[in-house]
Amino acid sequence: MKFDTVIIGGGLSGLVCGIRLLQHGHRCAIVSSGQSALHFSSGSFDLLNALPDGEVVTNPQKSVKDLIRMSPCHPYAKLGGDKFCELAGESEAFLRGIGLSFQGDSMGNHYRITPMGTLKPTWLSTSDFAVSKSERELPWRKVSIFNIAGFLDFYPQFIADEFAKIGTKSDIHLFSLPGLDHLRRNPSELRSTNIARILDKESNKDELIRILGKAAPDSDAIIFPACFGLENANMLPALGRATGKPIYLIPTLPPSIIGIHTQQYMHDYFIHSGGVYMLGDTVKRADVEDNRVTKVYSYNHGNIPFSANNIVLATGSYFSQGLIATRSRVYEPVFDLDVSFNSDRKDWYNRNMFDSQNYQEFGVKTNETFNALRKGKVVENLYVSGAVLEGFNPVKEGSGAGVSILSALFIADKILSK
Ligand SMILES: Cc1cc2nc3c(=O)[nH]c(=O)nc-3n(C[C@H](O)[C@H](O)[C@H](O)COP(=O)(O)OP(=O)(O)OC[C@H]3O[C@@H](n4cnc5c(N)ncnc54)[C@H](O)[C@@H]3O)c2cc1C
Repeated sequence: MKFDTVIIGGGLSGLVCGIRLLQHGHRCAIVSSGQSALHFSSGSFDLLNALPDGEVVTNPQKSVKDLIRMSPCHPYAKLGGDKFCELAGESEAFLRGIGLSFQGDSMGNHYRITPMGTLKPTWLSTSDFAVSKSERELPWRKVSIFNIAGFLDFYPQFIADEFAKIGTKSDIHLFSLPGLDHLRRNPSELRSTNIARILDKESNKDELIRILGKAAPDSDAIIFPACFGLENANMLPALGRATGKPIYLIPTLPPSIIGIHTQQYMHDYFIHSGGVYMLGDTVKRADVEDNRVTKVYSYNHGNIPFSANNIVLATGSYFSQGLIATRSRVYEPVFDLDVSFNSDRKDWYNRNMFDSQNYQEFGVKTNETFNALRKGKVVENLYVSGAVLEGFNPVKEGSGAGVSILSALFIADKILSK
């Protein structure tokens, strides 16, 4: 099977790279094992929330120079400050261009609201999300918070308590629907994905309008767990129009409806643009000759190889098995690429779980143009994109989606310029 480019891994990074290549007429395939980090994400994309020394970042474009000075191996350092700013703007245009609707930009982080009601900085949030420009106040004097009775992945009272600390009052409403009673018989079934399938049904619209009508007359907005929009994007706007109040979503604990929607939307966009997406297949090995990947083999295709002018490795980090950690080493399982990690295992982690963890920064080594290194040599047609890269800490810095999107666009442009 011959393609211009084969991408290994179909999460955020692989999909952004693939769609960009298809937009320019490339023949492109994605081989992807299964679910990606998006399925478990907040639904917001982080670009840069903090510097390695802990300083909070309010404007990623302004602070990237400090990051590059402190972290010379960081993927953003490989891009350089000017390219980072250019690609951040392009990322926003790219996502909106394919029809994903976001609020926020790289000139100033905004605050998303966690399922516990605390505020966290971020770059882009889906338009339906409840967000604030400031950490110290919310845009509403009073809100009405709704939750499904018995749903344990969303915490209205914690949210109300956190809101009260910064001057916003709340009234809380628990409700049920006949379809939800069926799920409630088994608590493990009452999860965001199953709830969304019921709330998205047009047949429940009138009952939902009646329930949301119980919001306090003096509340400025309705707050709802992010359990809409898996199969029906029209329900939330329709409810907003009918109740006469804006309805904003707050993410629940995983699985993430917004993340799953984003993954599915980009997957469909890739297919409709002419891409070949092989879901449920895993690349297991490759032939590398004269520092070029010549063939790639997957479990489902056995001895029938994929060949392409360019290969993009976008297999994610430990979570997606793009990196494997044993007791003595961290390795990359498909090509056995060079991986940076501390030789003494005691340096991998910090006993305080909430401190920065070194293992987060381990990853595949690359040159300045994100070509993989193997036995110290550059593999000319193999590019490395997203969470599998070395040199950044997505949790401490809040840079996960930013690295995945910006590296993907950079690599796609590099391939297209060949
Ligand atoms: C649980 C979790 C939550 C996160 N939440 C956020 C968030 O809210 N905001 C944020 O900005 N960042 C978040 N991140 C950071 C996240 O890493 C990035 O945002 C981004 O989604 C990573 O995308 P990726 O495509 O690089 O990797 P992934 O999303 O991990 O995708 C890699 C894909 O490659 C596939 N794969 C792996 N090996 C193979 C193989 N050999 N053959 C074929 N396919 C393979 C996997 O099945 C997977 O689908 C989160 C990360 C995790 C782990």
